[in-house]
This record gives sequence, C-alpha cells and structure tokens, in this order.
Amino acid sequence: MGRKLLLEHINVPGINTLEVYRKMGGYRAVEKAIKTMSTDEVVEEVKKSGLRGRGGAGFPTGMKWSFLAKPEGVARYLVCNADESEPGTFKDRYLMTHIPHALIEGMIVSSYALGAKVSYIYVRGEMMPQIRILEKAIAEAKAAGFLGKNILGSGYDLELYVQPGGGAYICGEETALLESLEGKRGNPRIKPPFPAIAGLYGCPTVVNNVESIAAVVPIINDGGDEYAKIGIGRSTGTKLISASGNLNKPGVYEIELGLSVEDFIYSDEYCGGIANGKRLKAVVAGGSSVPILPANLILNLVNGDKRLMSYESLSEGGFVSGTMLGSGGFVALDEDQCIVRNTWNFSRFYHHESCGQCSPCREGTGWMEKVLHRLEYGHGKMSDMDLLVNVSKQIEGNTICPLGDAAAWPVASAIRHFRDEFEWHVSNPQLAVKQNYGLAHY
Ligand code: NAD
Ligand code: SF4
Repeated sequence: MGRKLLLEHINVPGINTLEVYRKMGGYRAVEKAIKTMSTDEVVEEVKKSGLRGRGGAGFPTGMKWSFLAKPEGVARYLVCNADESEPGTFKDRYLMTHIPHALIEGMIVSSYALGAKVSYIYVRGEMMPQIRILEKAIAEAKAAGFLGKNILGSGYDLELYVQPGGGAYICGEETALLESLEGKRGNPRIKPPFPAIAGLYGCPTVVNNVESIAAVVPIINDGGDEYAKIGIGRSTGTKLISASGNLNKPGVYEIELGLSVEDFIYSDEYCGGIANGKRLKAVVAGGSSVPILPANLILNLVNGDKRLMSYESLSEGGFVSGTMLGSGGFVALDEDQCIVRNTWNFSRFYHHESCGQCSPCREGTGWMEKVLHRLEYGHGKMSDMDLLVNVSKQIEGNTICPLGDAAAWPVASAIRHFRDEFEWHVSNPQLAVKQNYGLAHY
C-alpha cells in the first residue's frame, strides 16, 4: 500500500468537522509552525521537501515562496487557486468536500510563512457546496482560535476569505484569477512581473493550488526531509490523481510519485484495469492541457524501465524533463474510443474558454475546432491534418497565457500518434460517423 499523507483519514466519519479532524491530529502543524518555528524555517522545510506545484505546472513551491518580494509596509497575500476546471481533474474538489480543514490548516501555516495577514481561497463559481463547506470550516477554525486576531496567543493575525470564482476556465490562470479577485474581467496579465512581485492589488502575492497548500501540513508535521524521501528524483511526495474514462474503478487516488503507470491502471489498489475487459488505447495523463499519449508509449518499457507517474517520466520522449503529469487528471481511453472525436471535444472546450485577448489563441482555437468538426462529421480533407499541425504551431508559444499551448498540444499530439485514424475518417466518412453516432446522425 502506498503512503497516504492527504487522504489517510478520508473514511473517518465526521472528518469534515474540526472536532474529528483535531482528534486525528489536525492543526498540529499550525501549533508547531506558529509556536516553535520562524517564518523562514517554515519556508526552508517546504524547500527541503521538494514539493512541486500540484495545479499542473510543477513549479517548486518553496522556490516560489522565496521569490516573494517583501518591501517595507506593503501587504503580502496568499491566494489559493481552487478554481479547478481542467477537464478530467476533480481532486481539489474532493479534498475540499471531504477534508476542508486540511486546506484551512495549510492556508494558516503557509500564510504565516509568507507573512500574509489576509488570504483568499478562490473557489470555482460552480462549486457552491464546497464554498459552503469551506466557509463553515473557516468559522469553526476561527472559533477555536486558529484564525483571526492573535492566533494561539502568538501575536500573528490572519483573516481568511472564500471568494466564489467568475465561472470561466480562464479564471484559474493565476493572473486572470487575481484580476477576477479584484472585481475585474478575468483576463490573464502578461508575465513578468510574476505575482510574487506584483500580484493582488499590485502587491506581492503567492498563488498556490489547493493540493499544494494541503501538502504543507504533513511537510511541517514530519519535516521536509521525510516528505522528500517519498517519490522519485525531483518528483517528491504523494500526488492526488483524478482517474476517469474507461476504468474499472474511476475516482480520486493518492499515489506515491514514482508508482508505475501500469500499476496505477491495472492494480486493484488503484484503477483495477480497463472496464469491460477492453484494451487501453490512449491516456491523457495530466488533464486536457497535455498531449494525448498512445498506450504503447505509456505501457512499454523506456530504456528498460517502466513509465512512472512522475513529472519527468510522463513526457513523450521518455525520462526527460517535462510536466505531463500536469494536474493529475488521468483519463484512460479504451480501444473503442475515437481519437478524432475526443480531440474535437477538447478543442471545442478550449475555443469556448479562450478569453480572446490574443489572436493566435482566439482565432487558432476556432480554426482547430472547425477543422476537427468537419473531420469528425465526414467532411474532412487529407490536407486537414497538416493544416491542424500548422495552426497548432502558430499558437504554441505565441500567446499571453498557457491556454494557447494547452489548446495546441492535444491536437498536435493526437495527429502525431494517431494520424492513421484521422486519415481513416477522411477515407471512410460514413463509417466514421456511424462509428460514433449511428446512421441516424449522419
Ligand atoms: P507557469 O509555469 O507559468 O508558472 C508556474 C508558477 O510558477 C506560477 O505561479 C508562476 O507565477 C511561478 N513562476 C514561474 N516563474 C517564476 C519566476 N521567475 N518568478 C516568480 N514566480 C515564477 O504555469 P501556470 O500558468 O501557473 O500553470 C500552467 C499549468 O496549469 C498547465 O500546465 C496546466 O496543467 C495547469 N492547469 C491546471 C488547471 C486545474 O484545474 N488544475 C486548469 C488549467 C491549467
Ligand atoms: Fe486569452 Fe488565449 Fe491569450 Fe490566454 S492565450 S490570454 S486565454 S486569448
């Protein structure tokens, strides 16, 4: 059994309440940090842990914290990005629903480390139940003296607010989130400056994902070195994976980074194999913003080793640097799934969610969606695949925020790995449509 640091007590009745959470050892990290550690010592433990951002980018959390500017007399903020919207990703919602105090405790410790006196949890607008759960948990924590003025008699004050999101995927991009939090339209800002220098209201701000912040709790309880012993290489600790698609046991799993992809898919501890005895065709390993990888690339040995659930191993080239683990949204597609249809579906999403600020993304996502639509509906041309690759190249790297890249990568990788399937759609338009919808839709 892999170690569980975040979900260890998930099945304890009442773990969503302060009383039970405390009985299970909750709020020890707050007491330890605030009563016995300096702010720099807390930052140092997080650096030692090797924790990398769990929202998708995998940026080292301790390093991000150490970039935070500290000009005299200027407020600093911690903002938790709980605008989880990546297709195939639902682990933050799960954590907030079942163990809200893990996030609240992590927010208190992290805010203390960063010197923030006011912090925000920006929750996706559609997640009203989670917003209510968090507000209730914050009220409990405040009544117990873990929030508000003079926390645990330390002289440290912290107010924590929950802010419902603006209802758009782009509001999860950190600078769009900050714009939205300031009451404006959620358009991404050009970086640099990074939020660590000029973030909320122009003040130094750290934006961290829900899971990253919750992971600070075991790091402070057990020490950064202990945390870093779990995992593999630069992928330390545990990771929540949202598993969906054609799996026997979809759900949210906490894995030790470094678990083999094969074990994750086929072992009974995790997904229990592909549903209905089918074969695996492809995997989107880290939410829809990463390439679609064919089963042979995921399951075959790379340089004699198995492909692992880690930031490094899940790249297309093998054991090279990359963040294909992304947000941990693991979508398995079986042999009956149509790659063209799935790619069109992703494309439709990105076209709809593009904020429209930069033309390569605004126009390019529209073109990709149109071309994929015609391929899917039996009107495609053989030249369409090159056209799609061309459009994706013109988007990649030429936009203000990563949504452009996120829209381009799945399309480019689908054509790279499954070009024959796209060509089959052009050569057999009626069969292709029948395969997906039945004749009535053609
Ligand atoms: P990024 O690589 O641009 O930045 C990562 C983080 O590091 C940011 O907080 C950024 O401010 C910080 N950073 C980077 N360089 C810095 C520097 N020099 N100084 C100070 N801070 C610095 O990526 P991103 O835009 O934060 O995230 C993109 C990822 O988000 C994608 O890979 C995708 O997987 C993921 N994503 C997740 C969801 C979800 O629902 N979880 C939704 C959409 C996208
Ligand atoms: Fe908006 Fe797309 Fe440009 Fe991001 S890449 S700022 S979503 S238009």
